[in-house]
Amino acid sequence: MVYDVAVIGTGPAGFSAALNLKILGKNFIWIGSRDLSEKAGKAERIDNYPGLPHITGRELNAAFSAQAGEMGLAITEQMVNSIVPMGEKYALMAGSEFYEARTVILATGTVRTAVLPGESALVGKGVSYCATCDGGLYRGKTIAVICNAARFEHEAAFLAGLAAKVYYFPVYKDPALSGENVEVVKERASAILGEERVSGVKLRGGGTLAVDGVFCLRDSLALSALLPSIGTEDGHIAVDRGMATNLPGVYAAGDCTGRPYQYAKAVGEGNTAAHSVIAYLAKARNELLP
Ligand SMILES: Cc1cc2nc3c(=O)[nH]c(=O)nc-3n(C[C@H](O)[C@H](O)[C@H](O)COP(=O)(O)OP(=O)(O)OC[C@H]3O[C@@H](n4cnc5c(N)ncnc54)[C@H](O)[C@@H]3O)c2cc1C
Repeated sequence: MVYDVAVIGTGPAGFSAALNLKILGKNFIWIGSRDLSEKAGKAERIDNYPGLPHITGRELNAAFSAQAGEMGLAITEQMVNSIVPMGEKYALMAGSEFYEARTVILATGTVRTAVLPGESALVGKGVSYCATCDGGLYRGKTIAVICNAARFEHEAAFLAGLAAKVYYFPVYKDPALSGENVEVVKERASAILGEERVSGVKLRGGGTLAVDGVFCLRDSLALSALLPSIGTEDGHIAVDRGMATNLPGVYAAGDCTGRPYQYAKAVGEGNTAAHSVIAYLAKARNELLP
């Protein structure tokens, strides 16, 4: 099935886009976390969101979640690992799943994790973002797993079930992963090493671990890994007033398009992106706008 729209990200921007697409009866898929946005839930008190004075981020998330439920909005709980332009549509890889959509709304928030030196150049040459897609390639081998959140631990455990040896780099508190072949590394990784393929991980203290592959399990992907041809400006997705990017049919909304990082901007841009997508699809099909 080819969806008309794929909305990526379940924060305020993605929710606003999905809500408007649902109200306008569009055929779309909404991909992200069913917990919506960890970041959006962190605000202790929000004073600048119109109509909801003194609400907390957690309460706002709960209100979004309740409204999504009432509206029958379904979330496909996955991380999108890569988006590939394919003529008049886009192919999205998410875990071991594959989706196709005519248009894409990127609502992925800011990328908090810096890409490690060497990482981008070695994607597909030993660097992977997807345990279920690429884990099988490392059966019986030595890998490093750099994991930024406890909720990805089950993916690391899956990898430990395949690899002979796992150097585990948890970048969060109280990691619980263990196993005979798992070595938890307390030092941070400072670079991924290799020429044609990954050969090792450099540690902040200067040491090196020899590995065959590196899995980076994170909340969000660097844009250069997710959709390399997307136009950026100062580390954000460059958009016009209609939230269109440089790629036909690809729109962006929320923190990923730049400052100010605010809920109201995110929901406003999500709304605009949804309407722009609808206009784009209608034009492509010579239809009148709803
Ligand atoms: C402590 C704190 C306090 C704040 N206080 C305020 C305030 O008082 N007022 C205010 O206006 N703003 C405040 N903010 C900012 C506000 O939270 C953000 O502006 C808002 O959450 C942006 O929404 P977004 O949808 O653009 O991105 P996000 O909320 O970051 O959501 C993006 C979502 O996309 C997901 N995602 C990313 N990549 C992928 C992928 N490849 N596949 C699938 N899903 C993906 C992420 O996991 C996340 O769930 C605060 C933020 C923080 C951290």
